[in-house]
Amino acid sequence: MDKPFDDPFDDVYEDDYDDEAAYPRRALPRLSLTPEQQVELARVIEERNTCDGTLRGVEEWARATAGVRWSRLRRELQARGGFCDCEVVLNVYDAEPG
Ligand SMILES: [Zn+2]
Repeated sequence: MDKPFDDPFDDVYEDDYDDEAAYPRRALPRLSLTPEQQVELARVIEERNTCDGTLRGVEEWARATAGVRWSRLRRELQARGGFCDCEVVLNVYDAEPG
């Protein structure tokens, strides 16, 4: 395929501007959370730094956070391979392309 010139931004921006254009979505999964909540959740889970094989840490955060529905969030996380706190960080957050 011919291209008139080699656009240096092709690779950088390809996947980043399909929604919420101004926010760097590269490292964020697509959940029913605001980008700010996703960043907060990742921080809480990483600081917790323990996992008992359940989503306890995520659940505690979700129930304490206004506007977050735990039942819905749990479904979204499990659909992406997050069946316990550490899997959320490993599978849900790190699995996004880019
Ligand atoms: Zn775990």
